[in-house]
Amino acid sequence: MSARASVYEHEVKALLSEAGVPVPRGVVVRDLDFGAAGELAEPLVLKAFGPGLVHKSDAGAVVLGLRAADLPAAAAEIRSRLPDVAGFLVEEQAAAGVELIVGVVRDAAFGPVLLAGLGGVWTEVLRDTALRLCPVSERDARGMLASLRGSRLLYGHRGAPPVDVDAVVKLLMTVGGPGGLWERLELGEFELNPVIAGPAGVTAVDARYLPGDAPAHAASRPSGDFLPLFEPKAVAVVGASTTRPNFGNMFLEFYKAAGIPLVAVHPEAEEVAGVRAVPSLASADVDYALVAVPAARCPEVVRQAAGVPFVQVMSGGFGETGDPELEAELVEAARAAGTRLLGPNCMGVYSPRGRQTFVGGGLGPAGSVALVSQSGGLAGEVIKVGERRGLAFSRVVTVGNAADVTPAELLRWLARDPETRAVGLYLEDPRDGRELYDALRVTKLPVVLLVGGRSEQGQEAAASHTGGMVSDRRIWESVAEQAGAVLVASQDDLIGVLAYFQAHGSRVADGDGVLVVGPSGGASVLAADAFDAAGVRLDPLPGDVLGELRGLGVMAAGNPLEVPVGPLGRAGLVPEVIDAIVRRRPCRDVVAHVNVQAFFTYGHAAEPLYAYARALAGAQEALPRTRVTLVTRNGECAPPGVDDEVRRIAAAAGIPVYRTMEAAAVAVAAGGRYGTA
Ligand code: ADP
Ligand code: MG
Repeated sequence: MSARASVYEHEVKALLSEAGVPVPRGVVVRDLDFGAAGELAEPLVLKAFGPGLVHKSDAGAVVLGLRAADLPAAAAEIRSRLPDVAGFLVEEQAAAGVELIVGVVRDAAFGPVLLAGLGGVWTEVLRDTALRLCPVSERDARGMLASLRGSRLLYGHRGAPPVDVDAVVKLLMTVGGPGGLWERLELGEFELNPVIAGPAGVTAVDARYLPGDAPAHAASRPSGDFLPLFEPKAVAVVGASTTRPNFGNMFLEFYKAAGIPLVAVHPEAEEVAGVRAVPSLASADVDYALVAVPAARCPEVVRQAAGVPFVQVMSGGFGETGDPELEAELVEAARAAGTRLLGPNCMGVYSPRGRQTFVGGGLGPAGSVALVSQSGGLAGEVIKVGERRGLAFSRVVTVGNAADVTPAELLRWLARDPETRAVGLYLEDPRDGRELYDALRVTKLPVVLLVGGRSEQGQEAAASHTGGMVSDRRIWESVAEQAGAVLVASQDDLIGVLAYFQAHGSRVADGDGVLVVGPSGGASVLAADAFDAAGVRLDPLPGDVLGELRGLGVMAAGNPLEVPVGPLGRAGLVPEVIDAIVRRRPCRDVVAHVNVQAFFTYGHAAEPLYAYARALAGAQEALPRTRVTLVTRNGECAPPGVDDEVRRIAAAAGIPVYRTMEAAAVAVAAGGRYGTA
């Protein structure tokens, strides 16, 4: 392929034609002799090409609807305005149809991405496009088209005949599918805009290709054994002081409290804060060393770590503050010592089972939820707030700059870890996005993804529409969609969705329906909106249940189903209602909500609330193939301690509890992607 800045349209079209993509019949004219155009069927299109002529219409270099006899004059007119024109492409004018854009662009993190959408002159205004990472499957291609806001234009709108969608899908596969054009192009940007789609097929009437330098794709590393990272037999802390307590001393105290065998590394002292000290890592018999010395000294410390499988560098001051050389030196030191490096610029590891910790306040319960976080501070919050809300962690690992050990590598290992049943990921820069994507695709466990700090700056610099429309947020949506991960938008939802998987992860649900039940018409209407926003359909109740509901005193018949729940009502009513419905039609999820305020406005009525929670617990136990979720609306109206007790009752039965309908809806939507029969 040519290495010049842009390849001329007719050259790209030759390539397309060879690959089986229909393009208009045309001829190239360099000398103003348009005789060869006599072979073409009118009407004709005249397009100039030349160096720097990228957006032809903007430059007045495209004329439609010509007869062969008009060509010389039209060409002369263009040339008088654009003296640098190198030649002309004359081609047959395709019949009008739906104009689409199809493109491929190389995303900095994830590599080649296919874009498809409504194209032509409206492309930038409509911004109605879909993205998928290459290679796309046929299912992806169809999904892309169906996801367009304007997709009805393809399927026959207002009497227009439907376009040949199979031909569009074939085109998408030829460009972005396995073995497609994307593999053969040295991709900068590649764009067909428009592709004219009609009932009889598709024609790519414009083609633009800007070659770029394909960065070498790092070969994916075989995942190491991370068990000693999470369950070290002993740990060392480098950097604690005998005179001026610092971060190192803080971690030393956390480890002392956790009760793991511990040694300090100190050049002179025999003991630091009551912990035995050795002069160098070389004489420490540990699986894990935490290094908290100034950045400049870290490489030297790591060089002595031979025999220590994992070294974590807490200190910042490397790549993140503009010192990539020091970071490279650190990685080199770790390679030389034969140790794996965590960080730099990270907090460490938390694993109650292995007495590993980087948080104060003691170890929480050992559980089944893992977290990989690029931010140490955020991981600390998710641990503390998550445990407060009932999460129990298997492994938490912070990776900071991920100079050596990457999130992808950890995810591959966690996917096979018998203690882990769901994984949360907090990422800012995945380093090698492709490796992460591949790891997400092979992981069968539910993965909840929170991505922070993805700037959209720089996108506008792209020369094609395709380049300008591939924003970072949208790439992550595609990654989640294609790899089957759950993308969430906040730390609360990260915790909330993980709590759902912790509670319900091992329940294989029957059916795909979701039932929402609880008091108040207004709350029910808002619940419908919340579930709609989360993309969850609430199907109508089975018709034959209405009689039985009436017998129970329930007059409403919708979904959300309004059923009174309060201090004076019967705690067992909701479970009976659920049973009546689920017996007729299996539901994968039942969301029971309650207005906590109603129990406390006219006195203290904790007991009826607990009775309700116990009744729901009974319903969950009776329905192992349905996932019951509780929403305690207005929980702040309860006296201190009540919420904890409700959560305790629910947790014992494997019921997750949310404070808002929106949070529950996000979790239930996520749950729909896993474990339904
Ligand atoms: P630009 O460089 O401005 O994108 P195009 O080659 O896309 O130039 O031409 C501009 C517009 O002219 C297209 O969006 C399309 O609507 C129309 N057009 C161009 N070539 C053809 C053709 N062969 N048949 C039908 N319409 C065409
Ligand atoms: Mg165009």
